[in-house]
Amino acid sequence: MDLGLKGKRALVLGASRGLGRAIAETLAREGVRVIAAARNEPAIAEWAAAMPDCDITPLRIDLADIASIDGTLEAILADGGVDILINNAGGPPPGTALDADHAAWTANFSAMAASLFHITSKLVPAMRERGFGRVITIGSSGVEQPIPNLAMSNGIRAAVLAWSKTLASEVASDGVTVNMVVPGRIHTARVDELDAAAAKRTGKSVEEIAKASAASIPAGRYGRPQEFADMVVFLASERASYVTGSRVRVDGGAIRSL
Ligand code: NAD
Repeated sequence: MDLGLKGKRALVLGASRGLGRAIAETLAREGVRVIAAARNEPAIAEWAAAMPDCDITPLRIDLADIASIDGTLEAILADGGVDILINNAGGPPPGTALDADHAAWTANFSAMAASLFHITSKLVPAMRERGFGRVITIGSSGVEQPIPNLAMSNGIRAAVLAWSKTLASEVASDGVTVNMVVPGRIHTARVDELDAAAAKRTGKSVEEIAKASAASIPAGRYGRPQEFADMVVFLASERASYVTGSRVRVDGGAIRSL
């Protein structure tokens, strides 16, 4: 299948590791000119150096520092903007619904939601003018089935999902699609960190936690970042032109609801 991605431009946020990195690498292998952004620019430069035949520009963006973002966006727009925006942010700390205080809610909402809304609103007008655009936001299975002890993630991502769905209707007639992709449990460093936190909390070993977690997934295992990235890249492609306003699961069957 020709995905029609050659020569397109993408901004991938949260691209230093994990899902963002896998998405950025996969887009680049499809011939997309990728701006890969995160706080840790050297980490991006390191993995990008291993892909010398691809067009990858590492960029420092701190989603928690909105003042640092606008100048970067202006430079991207002055250079023609992007066709594809991957909205991916770091996850918040674990905790119960009563754990977090006002400052923690505000800081995490700003980095995980408001900054993504802001970046999208700056980059989408140029997509509409060109009659092509893809906005793909990385969510969490918590938007469908709240995950215990991840109250902040569940709450903030529900807001991001509602925003994504609202935007989809607003720009659909201009050739811009807007979708959310929902990971179940994809094996990244963050998942290892969450398993380690659960082990500490429960007194079990990390291996026991990971084994029980994998056993609760119908596929019987965690997903691979590449399996997640492949779905995102399909949604970014020309081939997915009639898919918008959707929430797509990549979860090995983990979410039990219809
Ligand atoms: P990760 O922690 O491995 O990677 C997050 C990326 O975001 C990193 O590149 C990090 O540098 C970047 N980042 C963090 N804070 C940032 C900031 N302030 N500014 C710019 N970049 C920042 O996480 P992951 O496993 O790749 O997951 C990506 C997203 O998907 C996270 O929000 C995570 O909570 C969510 N998620 C992942 C899973 C999973 O199974 N991996 C499941 C549900 C939800």
